[in-house]
Amino acid sequence: MHVFHTISEYRYWRNKLPLDVSVGFVPTMGALHAGHASLIEASVAENTFTVVSIFVNPTQFGPKEDLSKYPRTLAADVALIEQQGASIVFAPAPSEIYPETPTQMIFGIRDLDKKLCGASRPGHFNGVVQVVSLLFHIVQPHNAYFGQKDFQQLLIIKQLVKEQHFPVKIIGCPTQREVDGLAMSSRNVFLSEREREQAKVLSAILFHLQKNRGSFASIESMKNFAYSALSDCPLARLDYFELLEENNLNEMPDLLSANCPHAFIAVFFGTTRLIDNLRL
Ligand code: AMP
Repeated sequence: MHVFHTISEYRYWRNKLPLDVSVGFVPTMGALHAGHASLIEASVAENTFTVVSIFVNPTQFGPKEDLSKYPRTLAADVALIEQQGASIVFAPAPSEIYPETPTQMIFGIRDLDKKLCGASRPGHFNGVVQVVSLLFHIVQPHNAYFGQKDFQQLLIIKQLVKEQHFPVKIIGCPTQREVDGLAMSSRNVFLSEREREQAKVLSAILFHLQKNRGSFASIESMKNFAYSALSDCPLARLDYFELLEENNLNEMPDLLSANCPHAFIAVFFGTTRLIDNLRL
């Protein structure tokens, strides 16, 4: 396995590949866990070569967010990637990706970026789309793997690829969870013991609604269930809980006529923000 820190090193390797191979790509911000490992595993199974990028992208963090304290664990990440059988780690410095102060890039992502995390984190998806476009140009993958844990991001990347005609197939992979249901996240390490205990409320709400969907008469009653479960967790501060149509994030008229209803939740524990989602 090679670890490249510059675009020119990567391009030298990429340009030598024959035309009949496939390159799978897993973009990450590092601090890797079993969720990332599952994406790498899927790519290794389906491609000749797998490239994993590690890049904490500054343009997707708001001014008051956790860019400087985001966990950075390069040595452990490289070991995990090698163990999974990937071929290349691409870990550029911010100055390699953005040699000049990046300009704001506006993409037509059909208002998918205006709701949920986009409403709570203005500019976040613009930064995500910006870095994913740059990485697609550099890496030139055939297939790219993204987690359903970040469901809105996955939809936006699919829209980006469609609109910009990137010759890349986007593959969504299932959310990996801890034993008690909490979705794995690089930010879970910031939770105190009490916060970690209460953090299982996110997935508990989602799985309860999925299992008992038929016993809820309305969207409102599902929302009330979520609010009531959260009120038992004094350390949890709700950012959003929404029930939307899965393919376009549109509001649903009602539960019966809804097309693929999907629940989305974001909760703060102190300054740590956790997200989760589930098809109902
Ligand atoms: P991040 O490093 O958090 O930017 O995530 C990199 C990729 O890993 C994204 O496509 C995420 O959706 C995916 N990912 C993060 N957590 C999980 C998880 N628990 N299960 C599956 N995929 C995940």
